[in-house]
Amino acid sequence: MSSLSPQTTDSSSPLGLVHSVESCGTVDGPGVRFVLFLSGCSLRCRYCHNPDTSFVRRGKERTAADVLEEISRYAAFMKAAGGGVTVSGGDPLFQPAFTRAILRGCKEQGLHTCIDTSGHLGQNVDDAMLADIDLVLLDIKAWNPEVYQSLVKQPLQPTLDFAERLAAVGKPVWLRYVLVPGVTDNPADVEMLARYAAGLGNVQRVDVLPFHQIGRYKWEELGLEYTLADVEPPEQELTDSIRAIFRANGFADCTY
Ligand code: SF4
Repeated sequence: MSSLSPQTTDSSSPLGLVHSVESCGTVDGPGVRFVLFLSGCSLRCRYCHNPDTSFVRRGKERTAADVLEEISRYAAFMKAAGGGVTVSGGDPLFQPAFTRAILRGCKEQGLHTCIDTSGHLGQNVDDAMLADIDLVLLDIKAWNPEVYQSLVKQPLQPTLDFAERLAAVGKPVWLRYVLVPGVTDNPADVEMLARYAAGLGNVQRVDVLPFHQIGRYKWEELGLEYTLADVEPPEQELTDSIRAIFRANGFADCTY
């Protein structure tokens, strides 16, 4: 293991804007994980539950060395628990220098690494950074390009480009799909996404995440227009039917 000190006084260590950390996360990758939530995101998802940190750059400035020192305190536990570190957000690729330094430092500590990303900024991942990522949690928000654009205010293609680059090098991916009734529940679109994911060859599982209204109040606090106020979370039957499409395409483990 490399030395990580001095920590907070290392002026060469990249600075990042950190929203929060979770030391015992269990839903953002395998095992028990240290999850680092960074501020900032290039998308503007209509259902974002953290608009206060994704759309507005809020958080605490920290050096990568400082964060890595904190991570090191949990390293033995995370290794024993089959976990590691997940860099999430926002989108970790919105702060690529910081994310790169965190991933490198984690690998120096022998930790399993994930990034949780939309892939829209996949071009910010250079080959060295890619080598330091063990697993990508890739959010494909919609399959239909028009629905995607309308839902997140950015084009779909960069995400597909990133997905195909990950496939080309055999990088393991867990696909995430947020199910929004009336928006992303078209079975034909989901079928095409499932076939696409199966064809990539590196997608290990698919998590269908039911839409919820948890972040709605934050939009209102920020004075932002929240356009999904009338949308209810999906019925269990709808969620099951969408998961069944992924299962039929070979993704046995497609619940959360
Ligand atoms: S990608 Fe995630 S963090 Fe970014 S706007 Fe969408 S939901 Fe919010």
